[in-house]
Amino acid sequence: MSRKTINLTDDLYAYLLSISLQESAIQRELREETAKHPMAMMQIAPEQGQFMALLIQLINAKNIIEIGVFTGYSTLCMAMALPDDGRIIACDINEDYTNIAGKYWQKAGVAGKIELRLAPAIEIMDELLDRGQAGHYDFVFIDAEKSEYLDYYERALKLLRPGGLITIDNVLWSGKPANPEELDKDTVAIRDFNKRLFKDTRVNISLLPIADGLTLALKL
Ligand code: SAM
Ligand code: CA
Repeated sequence: MSRKTINLTDDLYAYLLSISLQESAIQRELREETAKHPMAMMQIAPEQGQFMALLIQLINAKNIIEIGVFTGYSTLCMAMALPDDGRIIACDINEDYTNIAGKYWQKAGVAGKIELRLAPAIEIMDELLDRGQAGHYDFVFIDAEKSEYLDYYERALKLLRPGGLITIDNVLWSGKPANPEELDKDTVAIRDFNKRLFKDTRVNISLLPIADGLTLALKL
């Protein structure tokens, strides 16, 4: 036993998935197609998708914004957790990636819950705010350009209702933020972002060492 998070060996990770991952055949198919993609490492881990789906159910989320779709695995996990009248605004800038996503959303029968927006996420979030949608959303997932995390986050806070949840991916960024010698743009951005969030009195946070690190921020 340990008071620190357990170190996941490959065998232990395989065990964890074998006794907890409850994926549909279509989720698995999408994950298998994505695994062959040159940018496969961008996809969230399947147990993270399942965890986010559970969060969505826990807070009875109906309206979601996703920043960074790629081949749509995270979107699919979230859409499957939503009620029939739930909606996701899914933002990305790459049509090749999202064409793959669309195929699987259709197959899974959740395409009607997903509004794909192909434009820079900051523009889309500003448009939603201009349309008077501040306080309208229950859940936001941030997983696009790391140097823009703070810009997404500030807009997400406005778009979220009190009691809504922002989830931010890759906050441990392969461990690089903990090494002060790592000074590349994305690492510095994530390190600064984590510091800002730690001091932000508008939210309660929890940083989970799941996959590449996921911070939950509950809007007070
Ligand atoms: N959530 C996805 C999943 O689990 O499969 C992975 C998202 S991937 C890490 C990041 C995505 O953000 C890419 O598909 C990229 O095209 C998109 N992206 C990059 N810059 C963006 C921007 N300014 N606005 C919206 N999407 C952007
Ligand atoms: Ca990610």
